[in-house]
Amino acid sequence: MIDWEFVQVAVEAPLSHPLTYRLPKDLAAQASTGSRVRVPLGKRSSAMGVLLGQGAASEKFEIKDISAIVDEPFLGEKTLKWLKWLAQYYLHPPGQVYSLAFAPGAEFRKKKSNKRSPTFLREAEGKTSKAAPTPNADQKGAIDSIAKSVSEGKYETFLLYGITGSGKTEVYLRTIENVLALNKQALVLVPEISLTPQLIRRFVERFGENVAVIHSHLTPRERADQWWSAVKGEKKILIGARSALFCPLENLGLIIVDEEHEGSFKQEEQLKYNARDAAIMRAQFSSCPIVLGSATPSLESWHNVKLQKYKLLKLPNRVENRPLPVIEIVDMRLEKENRREKGFVDRPYWMSELLNNEIVQVLNNKEQGALFLNRRGFAQFVICQSCGFTESCPHCSVTLTAHNRGLRLDCHYCGFQKQIPRLCTSCTKDIYTSVGLGTESVAEDLKKLFPDSRIARADRDEINSRESLEALLDKINNHEVDLIVGTQMIAKGHDFPNLTLVGAILADVGLHFPDFRSSERTFQLLTQVAGRAGRHQKAGKVIIQTYIPEHPAIQFAMKHDFENFSQQELKFREELNYPPFGKLASIRVQGTDLAKVEKSADDAKLRILNLQKINSDYNNLEILGPCEAPMAKVRGKYRYHLLLKVISAKMMNAFLQHLTQNLDWLEPGVKLSVDVDPLHLL
Ligand SMILES: [Zn+2]
Ligand SMILES: [Zn+2]
Repeated sequence: MIDWEFVQVAVEAPLSHPLTYRLPKDLAAQASTGSRVRVPLGKRSSAMGVLLGQGAASEKFEIKDISAIVDEPFLGEKTLKWLKWLAQYYLHPPGQVYSLAFAPGAEFRKKKSNKRSPTFLREAEGKTSKAAPTPNADQKGAIDSIAKSVSEGKYETFLLYGITGSGKTEVYLRTIENVLALNKQALVLVPEISLTPQLIRRFVERFGENVAVIHSHLTPRERADQWWSAVKGEKKILIGARSALFCPLENLGLIIVDEEHEGSFKQEEQLKYNARDAAIMRAQFSSCPIVLGSATPSLESWHNVKLQKYKLLKLPNRVENRPLPVIEIVDMRLEKENRREKGFVDRPYWMSELLNNEIVQVLNNKEQGALFLNRRGFAQFVICQSCGFTESCPHCSVTLTAHNRGLRLDCHYCGFQKQIPRLCTSCTKDIYTSVGLGTESVAEDLKKLFPDSRIARADRDEINSRESLEALLDKINNHEVDLIVGTQMIAKGHDFPNLTLVGAILADVGLHFPDFRSSERTFQLLTQVAGRAGRHQKAGKVIIQTYIPEHPAIQFAMKHDFENFSQQELKFREELNYPPFGKLASIRVQGTDLAKVEKSADDAKLRILNLQKINSDYNNLEILGPCEAPMAKVRGKYRYHLLLKVISAKMMNAFLQHLTQNLDWLEPGVKLSVDVDPLHLL
């Protein structure tokens, strides 16, 4: 019940501010701050919106009436504050941000649900009350630290850094028990790909029907059922991929973000938010602790530990003291000569003698092998096969990308270009080879080398649904395939008892993405890939092939040494003001007409320079570009981008608000979008 005549409504439309409406007396009884409402908008007779608070009469505009209050639970104060922050920080229309907190498929609420759980929960039910493992001393220490914040109901960020196989999940489960004892709710965010039946089963075994799960492969009805059961508090634990963060839980006692370093927490379209960062703010507004878990924490989180903003909890040992796998590195620079000498001319350049022999061995022993490639294998670069040198940008320290059928090299940060030198700049002995390897061609090569083996591919082209991923995981578990060629898709969280060989085909492919985070990502991937081997009785072998064996990402991964890797990498980031030291924002300009896109990108730069002239606060803002985005044309649209770099997050936000206030200078048909804290610059 509210008695304001005029109210503010965030309307679900691309508007940068809430609008004022009149609240008819007969609707006032049902209305409250956070209510979902229907309003007329322009020529539309009905748009959805959220009532935010009191508004004021205006003589300048005609004020329209709210037409209906939608019968849904309203958003509470903590959720509203958090959503407001999101809209401001990521510069997204507030009405569109608020709408994310209402479950899709609201129509199912009216009808009586048959309350039948989705398949994945039914499978797990009836398996409750399995005896929980006793935590070891490290796990216990972590559980106790978090328990203190849980019981005090205060915000604190914990970084749970535990090596692969160290038992992080048990820490989560025990901590959630403490939350339930206080009759509060727990939200668990995991990367979509980790939402496997195995993970859900562990939660259901411990907490039975108290678990709700949201992922992208539920039917709309199942999704709505899970969503509302959590909102109403019928279920106390909500597990989901990043969108579950928007479920308007007002009684949160804990948030967990597992695999916090994962890139998939960043949404790249629409509201370009990072669910990990947004979850930390959510915990602040909810006055509850948040636990970020990882075997390879992001440098952002690690830096925050160093600054004492986050509390570090370590799990340095594998459970039951199982050993970490031994990692062998193959220096690919020696392989070219080796192939020639031994007459292996048919062997593809990416296959070393050692890897080849190990595959033969695995097939003879009737075991399994997995070969990993980095996901974004389409970025072409050039490498000297004799010395391993690659060309990088003199201004940005990122690898140059090959264009124009390997004749030209481009920097996708600043637009620097050069012709490809005839001979390697470093050793001057060899010509460059253009590299851009995909899983498909690796699988084809394997088929030729090992015609009798059963080969499966695991990448986004091949595996496009939860069902096909699970079917593949079953096939691997039942040993219906011998060799798996995949991306990081299968590098995470899975345990295959018969998998004894893991090979990273070309670790360099990841190192040479035109991205300042390529080193960090490569370290993370290699660590995770290695973590797959030898988790069971059979010993595992890990082989990393590279042209630059001395690279720190590879050396430290081989030694399982995250702490020294991060120390060195942070030094490099600090020198160039890259995150976590500087803040980045990417401004993308796109459209179907290339000339107009180029013109608008140039105009954007001029406007930025102008703003700097007017306001001296913006002087230490650094501008890179404009230049063609690495994926220069996507779905028929040309893309240009500019990168902004500055130390202060506050200044970045103020500047971006300023820049996007008015966009009528853009050429017709050209759109500008802003990505704050971009994660993938491709
Ligand atoms: Zn550059
Ligand atoms: Zn060379």
